[in-house]
Amino acid sequence: MSSQITVLVTGGAGYIGSHTAKALARAGYRVVVYDNLSRGHRWAVRWGPLEEGELLDTEHLRKVMVAERVGAVLHFAALIEVGESMKTPETFFRNNVSGSLSLLNAMRDAGVRRIVFSSTCALYGFPEKVPIAEDTPTAPLSPYGESKLMVERLLHWEGICHGLQWMALRYFNAAGADADGESGESHSPETHLIPSLLAAALGRRPACPIFGGDYPTPDGTCIRDYIHVTDLADAHVLALRHLQEGNPSTVLNLGTGDGFSVNQILAAAERIIGKPIPISRQGRRPGDPPRLVAAPQKAFEQLNWKPAHSSIENIIETAWKWSSHAHSPAASLSV
Ligand code: UDP
Repeated sequence: MSSQITVLVTGGAGYIGSHTAKALARAGYRVVVYDNLSRGHRWAVRWGPLEEGELLDTEHLRKVMVAERVGAVLHFAALIEVGESMKTPETFFRNNVSGSLSLLNAMRDAGVRRIVFSSTCALYGFPEKVPIAEDTPTAPLSPYGESKLMVERLLHWEGICHGLQWMALRYFNAAGADADGESGESHSPETHLIPSLLAAALGRRPACPIFGGDYPTPDGTCIRDYIHVTDLADAHVLALRHLQEGNPSTVLNLGTGDGFSVNQILAAAERIIGKPIPISRQGRRPGDPPRLVAAPQKAFEQLNWKPAHSSIENIIETAWKWSSHAHSPAASLSV
């Protein structure tokens, strides 16, 4: 079994990283979180010790890997706000690309040869064909998407030149929260659709903006493929096992293959909550493609993975439970 292996989870105090830390611990791995807490939360580190540090601090990373006898890295630490990346691209390239290069250097120095990387469907840009398979040409529309693509290329060459084993998992829209209420989404400011709708329902913001009603989609609003964060977490554990079994490095889409419009999400949220949600209909948000839906068959086949928690009802119910919980650490944060 895979037990006893120590996994360094960079960004393990963040949304997807913390859920994956839990999934790893449940699967018998030992978890060490590496996070600078600039965007992550101390309360989200519950499944292993926290090592506070910067990705750019190669020597610190190397020392942690050696001292903790790290056997593999799951790399989540990154800046993720698309809009922010348009304002300060240099920060994104330094943090996401130089930071990842530093991590890879530390891994090489410490003799750690396996990594699962948190990538994104944002590197497909405005795809011509939907559903989107992994061989769709990449054309990122933001420094954020570009930074993730650049890291995938670093992995590729590190694999060829130095024998790194890697998996890049391209997520579609991560959503939902831990079923036990132990972690959930808590960004500040919050820009994602589902938490923004729920914040409006809770009166934490006056209304949720709904961006664009004139897209070439059946109801005029954008279509996205929402994948439950617990399903993403499980896929990371399977991806790590896949590498441990000696399978080749590759990129995989993680999505359900089903698309839902913004209006459909709004209607589902109102149905589940049982009351209308205050919204304000606005123009298009720049850079939003009309339709992003995964062709996830490659991940289904290679990882023997299938989303098990990703019905829209379960996504919204778990997110609602998380965000409305009176004692949730997220409840006190601005949205
Ligand atoms: N969206 C919206 N209001 C919001 C946030 C998002 O109408 O407050 C829309 C957004 O324009 C997109 C979809 O919801 O069409 C999903 O956006 P989100 O930011 O959650 O994820 P993205 O697909 O941009 O990664």
